[in-house]
Amino acid sequence: MTRVVQLTVSRMSGPVSLVPRRGTKVGAPSYAVRMPATTTGAVIDDSAPSRTALVRRARRIDRILAQAYPEAKSELDFDSPWQLLVVTVLSAQTTDKRVNAVSLTLFARYPGPLELAEADREDVEQIIESTGFFRAKTQSIIELAAAVLERFDGQVPGRLEDLVTLPGVGRKTANVVLGNAFGVPGITVDTHVGRLARRFGWTTHTDPVKAEHDIGALFPKRDWTMLSHHLIWHGRRCCHARGPACGACPVGRICPSYGEGPTDPVAAAKLLRDEGRA
Ligand code: SF4
Repeated sequence: MTRVVQLTVSRMSGPVSLVPRRGTKVGAPSYAVRMPATTTGAVIDDSAPSRTALVRRARRIDRILAQAYPEAKSELDFDSPWQLLVVTVLSAQTTDKRVNAVSLTLFARYPGPLELAEADREDVEQIIESTGFFRAKTQSIIELAAAVLERFDGQVPGRLEDLVTLPGVGRKTANVVLGNAFGVPGITVDTHVGRLARRFGWTTHTDPVKAEHDIGALFPKRDWTMLSHHLIWHGRRCCHARGPACGACPVGRICPSYGEGPTDPVAAAKLLRDEGRA
C-alpha cells in the first residue's frame, strides 16, 4: 500500500513529502523526497517523472525560457547560408563576438565560395587569427569553399544529408545552418544544449546524436530551432557549466537540478551574465 509521509519544515512554504519509489534496488533509499517551494521559490522533486509528466515539464520549461529570452536567436552575424556556414565553422572553441569581429573583413575580401576557394591562405589566417586554431580553420573553410563550389555549384545545400558530407561540417553545424538559414527545424546539441538537457532530465547521453534524438522526442518538430536558441541563451546567461545561477533562474521552480548552483537570490544574481559567450 502506498504511504506518503509528510513533514513540515520551518522556512519552507509547505510540507516535505516522502514518496515511495517503485522497483527500488536493495540498499537504495526507498523514498524520493519531494520538497515544497522554498524561500527562493524552488520545488525539488527527485522522483522520476512519467513520460507524460516529462514532456509536459519540458514544454513548460521551453515556454518559460521563451518568455525570459524573447529576443533569442543566433548570436552570429550572417547574411546568407554561405556566411552562416563559414561563421559556424569559425565559432568552434571561441566566442560569437570574436567571430563577428573578423567575419566582416573576411566576407568583404572573400564574398563567396569562389573567392575563398582561391584565397591566399596566409591572408585568411591573418584575418581570422583572433578566433584561435586559425591555421586549421583556414584550411577548413578553404576546403569547404572548394567542396561547395565543385559539388553544389557554389550553393550551400539545404539538406542535412548533403551538408554533413562537406568537410568540417557535422550534425551540429548542419542543424545550425538548416534551422537559421533554411527554416528547416533542427536541434543544435552544443555544449549548452547537452548540459541543460541533462540537467532537465531530458537525456542521460553525452553523445550529441543520442541527446539530439532524446530531446527531439519531447517537442514538436516546429519548435526545435527556437528551443535550441532558448537553451543556448539560458546556458550562456544563467545555467552555466560551473556555478549555475539557480536562485535567479526563471525555471528554478520546476528544474530537477535546482540547487546545483547557489540558491540564494543575491548570490545567484551575481552569477548572471548579460550577454552571450564572453
Ligand atoms: S540554473 Fe539551476 S535551476 Fe536553473 S536550469 Fe540551471 S540547474 Fe536548473
